[in-house]
Amino acid sequence: MLVGERVAVQTPNPRAAAAVSAERLDGRKLEAVEAVGKNLLLSFEGGLVLRSHLRMSGRWQVVERGAELRGKPWLVLAGAERQAVLWNGPVLELTRRGARRLGPDILAEPPDLAGMAANLRREHQGRELGDALLDQRLVAGIGNVWKAEALWRAELSPWLRLAQVSDEELERVLGEAARLMRAALDNHGGKRIVYRRAARPCPRCGTAICSHGQGDDNRIAYWCPGCQRGEERPGA
Ligand SMILES: [Zn+2]
Repeated sequence: MLVGERVAVQTPNPRAAAAVSAERLDGRKLEAVEAVGKNLLLSFEGGLVLRSHLRMSGRWQVVERGAELRGKPWLVLAGAERQAVLWNGPVLELTRRGARRLGPDILAEPPDLAGMAANLRREHQGRELGDALLDQRLVAGIGNVWKAEALWRAELSPWLRLAQVSDEELERVLGEAARLMRAALDNHGGKRIVYRRAARPCPRCGTAICSHGQGDDNRIAYWCPGCQRGEERPGA
């Protein structure tokens, strides 16, 4: 869509306007669009890269230029004939190329598990495992659903500090995430055991599944306190 065109850029949603200055992009040529995990990276001339992560609710739509838009989209990139419109709840960030690199893609074949584990090892070791697994700078592409499911399969609590997790355990949970996400993408397997199953019994040990917000973004973590190794949730 629109690659190679000069685009007119608008940010109708005030939250998007706060995150990205449309003037910095307006009139630049869109050079490339690349999907990395669940991130979409739009590269503009002059080395500017716009990252959008769609989370659960975001979506891109391509329509004719000038088509009527109901509501306030986050971003409108208009080319000569068509425009790309970004709707709802994404992460939006403008950087210089290379300024903030993404971690290895969890869906690469094969995934670079050792590289991801090394990134997690270089991170502040007081950080909670469940929070760090969602940091796209460390590992690109793990969403909240498969983070929870991978931690359950690896029998590790999201509340463990990185310092409490061995290299072998890091690679185990990353391997589970890669396997589950690949299976879900290929449309086989991918059964959810803990995600959105709070208060139901864990199929492995019968303990009730717990849920609680975690990290700066307060993403909901789901875990079994009976069989996933780790400390109590802080403050619990
Ligand atoms: Zn359990």
